[in-house]
Amino acid sequence: MSKKIKKLKYVNKYGVSRSIPAEVKQIVRRRCGFGCVICGLAIYHYEHFDPVFENLKVKHEPNGITLLCPNHHQNKTSGRLSVETVKKFNAKPKALELGKVNDLFDLDVKSPTVKIGNFTFKDTPVLIQFEYEPIIKLELSEEEEQPHLLSATLRDTNGDIVLEIDKNEWKSSTMNWDCKVEGPRIVIRSAPKKVELIIRTEPPSNLVFEKISMLYKGIFMVCSENMAFNFSLPNGMTFSVESGEIEGGEVGLHLSSLGVAVGGVMLEYLTDEMKPMKIKPGKSKLNKLSFTNTTDSDKV
Ligand SMILES: [Zn+2]
Repeated sequence: MSKKIKKLKYVNKYGVSRSIPAEVKQIVRRRCGFGCVICGLAIYHYEHFDPVFENLKVKHEPNGITLLCPNHHQNKTSGRLSVETVKKFNAKPKALELGKVNDLFDLDVKSPTVKIGNFTFKDTPVLIQFEYEPIIKLELSEEEEQPHLLSATLRDTNGDIVLEIDKNEWKSSTMNWDCKVEGPRIVIRSAPKKVELIIRTEPPSNLVFEKISMLYKGIFMVCSENMAFNFSLPNGMTFSVESGEIEGGEVGLHLSSLGVAVGGVMLEYLTDEMKPMKIKPGKSKLNKLSFTNTTDSDKV
């Protein structure tokens, strides 16, 4: 079986495989600022320009590879864009000049479903808020034909913004350690082996946050598709939900130093100060919810 795959793998006349090792790709991405060196688009191909792949004799060298969007890649391949011009842009990548790369999520339905770890949100204007500041929100459209639009400010475990979504357009800073767009996924790392955020699109109706780990306003949130949603709050309380569904209402998950509200429903650890908060409740279903409070042992 493996021999068969080997035979099918494309190699050039010197026997060098078309497939570029992951570590070489990572060096190229970081050098180019995670986008096409000519226009800065976050969707790209890895292009051998010095030498071209056909003349590559030994192995893939990061310095001879650059990033080109499908449009500029096509121009290069069909001879409308010269190697000299590609070299010029490679030396001064557009994304680094812009300081960000961006692209649009295809969420072209009236009401997208947003899955964060094992939590599903539908038609909820504020999906998650930290101390009354929305982290992920949907702008619900009044118009029948117009889709709701998603916006978010996502941070890493250091509290630094790693990705912003502005009305379905995502933007990643070139200051990130790595931002890899491959197939339907965006993967952001803050260090070589530290994945902070993975977003997968399932166009046109779903957006899946496969992994988030972020710290902001003293609130730590971590979740992935394979684990429970875990939070720790500034008051020492931790909160974990294996999975859940929230539909409608005004605020999906409200997290603050005073407590937690889910789907507009106050949970037991809320203090009296939180109770006057009027949130229109939606429908919510939570599985295996648990709390611990290191500062208040009677409530455990
Ligand atoms: Zn381009």
